[in-house]
Amino acid sequence: MKNLTNKNQEKIYDVVIVGGGPAGLTAAIYAARAGLKVIILEKEVPGGKMVKTAEVENYPGFNSILGPDLAMRMYEQATSLGAEFEYDGVLHFTKRDDNLFEVHTVQPNTFYTKTLIIATGTLENKLGIPGEDRLYGKGVSYCAVCDGAFHKGGDVAVVGGGYSALSEGTYLTAFVKNLYVFVRKDHFKADEFQVSLLKEKPGVHFIMNTVVEEIIGTDKVEAIKTKNLITGEVKEVKVQAVFPYIGSKPITDFIHSELNLKDDQGYLKVNADMSTIIPGLFGAGDVREVPLRQIAIASGDGALAGQMAVEYIQNLG
Ligand SMILES: Cc1cc2nc3c(=O)[nH]c(=O)nc-3n(C[C@H](O)[C@H](O)[C@H](O)COP(=O)(O)OP(=O)(O)OC[C@H]3O[C@@H](n4cnc5c(N)ncnc54)[C@H](O)[C@@H]3O)c2cc1C
Repeated sequence: MKNLTNKNQEKIYDVVIVGGGPAGLTAAIYAARAGLKVIILEKEVPGGKMVKTAEVENYPGFNSILGPDLAMRMYEQATSLGAEFEYDGVLHFTKRDDNLFEVHTVQPNTFYTKTLIIATGTLENKLGIPGEDRLYGKGVSYCAVCDGAFHKGGDVAVVGGGYSALSEGTYLTAFVKNLYVFVRKDHFKADEFQVSLLKEKPGVHFIMNTVVEEIIGTDKVEAIKTKNLITGEVKEVKVQAVFPYIGSKPITDFIHSELNLKDDQGYLKVNADMSTIIPGLFGAGDVREVPLRQIAIASGDGALAGQMAVEYIQNLG
């Protein structure tokens, strides 16, 4: 590689993976198992959203497994196969004339690689209402696994009617006395089984057609102001915590727009084989536009991206 010093040449990877969630870890398993030099760059902890998930009951092979346990299993499998793991956030990348990607990180560090797999997932949407930011960490939380146990015997609100809201709500019922689930529409965006799991728990109240407009409290959450979208009725409900689960947006801000890799919503555009318009660059998992965001799907994407990276390198000769 003509433009690199000897020291930097040692840092040339076959595959650099951005993001250590199920997509990134599975990609690492496939690429490392094929004998490639692989590194995962992860800005937080290995496992991605699995670490923030209570119980996973729909990942094949396990009737039920704790999210953090599944995360550790994937991490250990990837690293035992030789994949390196580095706590570092990627700031931006370029593809050079010699076909190597140059990846710049927060540390700061520069990694050189023949292929790059983007598996950065999504970031939870905020409600965007008064009190949300001010009371974050004081009763407002986006992670039931992290903070649910602080609210033993309390009254707590979950906002959202999708899979995450219902599954994390089910987890919270182990601690709380009353769980209020506020759903904007008159129906849930999850399968009937997940709805019934939560319905069966004591102290659960579904409040449909209703939005949360304000989170009230001085030093901690004390109540929420809600509005029924059909009747217009505004109510104050006393709760000590609020867990919003209202969807998410892709983490692709580190990808320059001129590269034309993103769609209107910011999702990474990938082909059926996880390749992108840039040869050697692949995407996998929640970061791409996909009708269902789940661990099994992210892992499947990761497997394909990892294998396609292997084949891309084989074709380089
Ligand atoms: C509360 C909740 C409960 C859920 N429950 C289930 C469930 O029961 N079953 C199920 O199948 N799915 C569940 N899901 C969905 C599932 O967790 C996701 O679909 C899956 O984790 C997506 O995997 P991923 O690897 O694409 O992204 P993620 O898991 O989001 O991982 C992406 C990783 O990339 C890292 N990253 C981002 N930007 C950078 C950067 N610039 N540099 C370095 N690293 C970066 C992030 O820190 C993160 O660790 C749940 C999700 C939530 C939020």
